[in-house]
Amino acid sequence: MGRAKTGTTPTSKDTGSQRALRTLNTNKIFDALTRHGAQTQANLARLTGLSAGTVSNIVRELVDEGRVTTESVVASGRRSALVSLVPDPRIVLGLDVGRSHMRILASDTSHRTFGRQDLQVGADLNPHETFTLARGMVDRLIQEHDIDESKIVQVGIAVPASAAPQSGRVVQGSVLPHWASYDLASISAEILGRPTVLENDASLGALAQLTYGSRPASGTVIYIKVASGIGIGIAINGTVYRSTSGLSGEIGHIQLFDGGDVCYCGNRGCLETLASSRRIVSDLAHVRRNPKTSLDDVIKGAQQHDPAVRRILAESGSALGRVVATLANIFGPDVIVLGGPLAPAGQDFLDPVVHTARQQALPAALAETTFVLSEFGDEDEVRGACALALHHLLGS
Ligand SMILES: [Zn+2]
Repeated sequence: MGRAKTGTTPTSKDTGSQRALRTLNTNKIFDALTRHGAQTQANLARLTGLSAGTVSNIVRELVDEGRVTTESVVASGRRSALVSLVPDPRIVLGLDVGRSHMRILASDTSHRTFGRQDLQVGADLNPHETFTLARGMVDRLIQEHDIDESKIVQVGIAVPASAAPQSGRVVQGSVLPHWASYDLASISAEILGRPTVLENDASLGALAQLTYGSRPASGTVIYIKVASGIGIGIAINGTVYRSTSGLSGEIGHIQLFDGGDVCYCGNRGCLETLASSRRIVSDLAHVRRNPKTSLDDVIKGAQQHDPAVRRILAESGSALGRVVATLANIFGPDVIVLGGPLAPAGQDFLDPVVHTARQQALPAALAETTFVLSEFGDEDEVRGACALALHHLLGS
C-alpha cells in the first residue's frame, strides 16, 4: 500500500537541508540512547524534544540499518517499543595537521572521544614525512589504549589550507605551499593504512561545533579560526558549506588597506597582516623587546589583563571585527564562534571583535547573533576531523 513518506524519512527528492535535519535528529536520538541507555520511543521523544512521529520514523530507519534494536515491553501499563543501541565497535581517528604541530584523537560512533596525542613538528616537512610521524602517533594511541587495530576504520584529516574534496589536493597552498602538488588523500591512506578524507581546518572547526557542541546546530553558524592564518567555516542548518573547488572562507586575505604590510599571498594590507597570531606575537615581542616572546606569553598576558597585551588584542580584534561586520551583512548569522590558539586569551580577544562588528554591521544583521569562544580549546580541528570521518563512515 502506498504511504506518503513524511518527516525525516529520506527520499530521492531530499534537499540538503532535509538531510541535515535528519542527521541532526538522528544525532539527538543517539545522544539520548548513549547518555540514558535503552529507552521507550515515548521517552526518546521527551528526551530529544522531537515529535513521536519523527522518533518513530528515525527508529525504523536505524533498525533497517542495524544500528538499533527494538523489543516490545509494557511501560506505565501500555505496550511500547524499547529502543537499544547495537554496540558499534568501530573507531575513527581525527588528525589535525598544523604548521608546527600534529594532534590525534579517537572517537567512537557515539561521539565519545579519547586517546589524544600531540607532537611538535618542523614547518618544512613534506606529506610523506608528516604522515609517517602521524603513523607513529597512531601506533602509540593503539598501544596506550589497548585498541584492536582492526576496529579503526576511517581517518579524517584537518589541513591548514583549502583542500579539494574530490582530489584531496591542497588548492590554495599559502600556508603549506610545498604541499600543493601532492595527492594528500592517497598518501595519507597508504601510510595510515585506512581510508582517509581531508578538509580545511576552519570548515572542520564549524563541523566540530555541530557534531560535538552543546549548542543547537540549526541556523547559520560561522566559525572563525585565528591562528598563523585566519579562515572561517560556515554551517547552514547543520550542513557545512563546501565550494566545488575546495577554496572558501579565506577571510585572512581580505584586503583592509591599499598600503600596509606585504602578506605572504603577495597583496598588501590583508587581514592576516593585522590580526593573525603571528602578527600579535610579533607586536608583543616588539613591545617587550624580547624576540623569544611566544603565543603563551600573549595568553598569559591576556589572562593577567596586561595593558600592552590588551591594547594589541584590541587593535587586531578591531581589524577582525571589520571583516566580521561584512560577514554579518552577508549571512545574518545566528552564532559566531571564535576559535584557534588565541581563544584561551578569553574576553580580551573576543570583546574588541564584537565591539567593532556591532559598530560597523547593519544593526539588524547582528541583532539576534550570539558571539562565543569555542568550548573545545585547542581541539576544534581534531574534533572536526573526527566528525568528518564519522560523517563519511555513517553516510550522514
Ligand atoms: Zn594575503
